[in-house]
Amino acid sequence: MKGLLLAFLLGASIQSQAVDPMLASLDGLFQMVNPSLPQNAYFPKFAQEKIWWLVEQQKQGRLDVVLLNSLANTNLTADDLMSSAIVNGRLTLAVVQTRLTTFLAEGKVNQLQIKNDFMLGVVHEVVHLQNPKLASSNHLAEEQRAWREVNSNVVRKLRASKQPMNKRFIAVDDALKACKDQLPCPSLARILLPSEIRR
Ligand SMILES: [Zn+2]
Repeated sequence: MKGLLLAFLLGASIQSQAVDPMLASLDGLFQMVNPSLPQNAYFPKFAQEKIWWLVEQQKQGRLDVVLLNSLANTNLTADDLMSSAIVNGRLTLAVVQTRLTTFLAEGKVNQLQIKNDFMLGVVHEVVHLQNPKLASSNHLAEEQRAWREVNSNVVRKLRASKQPMNKRFIAVDDALKACKDQLPCPSLARILLPSEIRR
């Protein structure tokens, strides 16, 4: 499935159209991380720039946002929320529907955390998508690069201001600190390894 609109770009809501409720929920998450909202002014500049870059790709018609309702023929698992790839020259952001369902349920408990987690996920995927050598890069090395990039520029700042986020981000920050932010970082690799073959 393709063609999800990042509705905030267009100043319109896709909810007014006959649309899959999951797509509407996903769109709601994108709207929630809109960097121009005053309540999102605390997003570090790096994060804001990455989100605006994605918005720009969307405006120029270079981005497909895909909701995966089946994991058949992918290397994703139900634990993954998002994944990105460049498919036939097009930027593709894939969101796993089963994980999105549990993610939204978590959001009913802590909406601020879910906003931060979703923003961090989007920023992480943009770091991948901006890598011109994404297709040919070693997967584990590329994951470590993306995690470090997002960690030093976003996670560490949010953590310092006590913003809630998934404990995986905290574990990664601790691992990178233990490695003095140098890559490859074995303690980071250990956290990422269970999903090493996935993207
Ligand atoms: Zn990744």
